[in-house]
Amino acid sequence: MKTKFLLAAAALAAMASSQAADHPAPHWDYRGKAGTSHWGDLEPDFATCKLGKAQSPVDLHAVKHGAAAPIDFHYAASHAEIVNNGHTVQVNLPEGGTVHLPSGDYHVVQFHFHTPSEETVNGKHYPLVAHLVHRNDAGELAVVAVLFKQGKENPALQPLFADLPPHAGDKHAVAGAFDLGALLPARHAYYAYMGSLTTPPCSEGVHWQILQQPVEISKGQLAAFRKLYPMNARPVQPLNGRVVEITG
Ligand SMILES: [Zn+2]
Repeated sequence: MKTKFLLAAAALAAMASSQAADHPAPHWDYRGKAGTSHWGDLEPDFATCKLGKAQSPVDLHAVKHGAAAPIDFHYAASHAEIVNNGHTVQVNLPEGGTVHLPSGDYHVVQFHFHTPSEETVNGKHYPLVAHLVHRNDAGELAVVAVLFKQGKENPALQPLFADLPPHAGDKHAVAGAFDLGALLPARHAYYAYMGSLTTPPCSEGVHWQILQQPVEISKGQLAAFRKLYPMNARPVQPLNGRVVEITG
C-alpha cells in the first residue's frame, strides 16, 4: 500500500516536472493581477522583484563621469532564430560574437525588445529599446541597451520586423545571416550601473550598459512591434544609492 502510494507520488512528481518543462515560464504580465507591482508575490522564486535593492530598469540622471572605458564589439553575422516568447520578441544568436566590457569578456546570447524603453533618461522614455544580453564563462550577465527614437526605417530591423512571429510560442529562422553590429549607433558612449533582470525572477548582479546615442525606427516598424506587444516595460526602480556613470 505504502509502496503503491510512493510510486503514485513519484509519477505525479514526474508529471508535474514534465509539465513544468513544457511551460517553463510561470504566468506573469505587465498589467493586471500578475502585473509588475505583483511580481514579487507570484512565486517564491520571484521575491527579489520586491525585496531586491539593486533592481532594473532605472532612470538615468545625475550621472557621474567615469574613466574612459570603451566597449569593444566583436559581433559577427550569424544564423539567428526569432521567437515570440509571450512577453516580447526575442532573437537568439548562438554564434553572434563577443563583447569586451570593463567587467570582462562576454558572448552574446540573445536580444529582445521593450516598448516603451524601460530605462528613462531624465525621466523620459524612448519609444523602444533593444536589450542585447551577454554571458561570460562564469555565468554572469551583461546587457547592452540600444535606444530607438522615431525617424527613418531601420534597415537592420527589417529582416526581423518584416516577419514577426505573431503568436506566443511561434518561432522561425531569420532569413540570411544577421549581424548585431548593424543595430549599434555610431557613437558608443554609455551609461553604466549594476542592476538586475527586468523580468521575473529579477535576479541581481547584472552589468548594465546603455548606449547614449539612440538609433532610428520608423513609425511603421514601431507599429508592427506594438501590434504584438503594446506595452512591455517594467517601471523604473529606485537607485538605492547606486551611482550611474557615463563613460566610453
Ligand atoms: Zn529586456
